Amino acid sequence: MKFETLEDLLIQEIKDLYDAEQQLVDALPKMMEAAENPQLQEAFRTHLRETEQQVTRLEEVFEELGVEPEGHTCKAMKGLIAEGQQMIKAKGDGDVRDAGLIGAAQRVEHYEIAAYGTARTLAQRLGRSRAAELLQTTLDEEGATDKKLTAIAEGGINQEAAEGSWQS
Ligand code: FE
Ligand code: FE
Ligand code: FE
Repeated sequence: MKFETLEDLLIQEIKDLYDAEQQLVDALPKMMEAAENPQLQEAFRTHLRETEQQVTRLEEVFEELGVEPEGHTCKAMKGLIAEGQQMIKAKGDGDVRDAGLIGAAQRVEHYEIAAYGTARTLAQRLGRSRAAELLQTTLDEEGATDKKLTAIAEGGINQEAAEGSWQS
């Protein structure tokens, strides 16, 4: 990698996100299947649809920047998804696993929030207002997903998992 300008850095950030989102399009259906709580399943289903749109939105950003869409392996997302896989495969109580799936999914959202925030700020700084707007739209979706996952955890899953603990 070689960066001469902030524009070079922005393009690199977008390539990383493009790869990360594509990894998530593959991973989210597995998270959805593993989830037992219907609300959590629905949250993963909704975010899968959003994630597919986010891939398309990044292609618009590439177009805005006059660059061919191309991914650059996001190693962090590989790691986060690998941790999610461990939760998917975990045996035992379903409610406890759901709580673990939420934790894994929120790690992903927080990574995305950091990365989209960085890219949005770079785009603003460069006067690329349309690109900044597109990145902000996705940033808002990631933030809303994170909040929804917190609400699901607080609203029941941890409660049910805790009840299971008391019974055993
Ligand atoms: Fe995303
Ligand atoms: Fe990355
Ligand atoms: Fe996301």
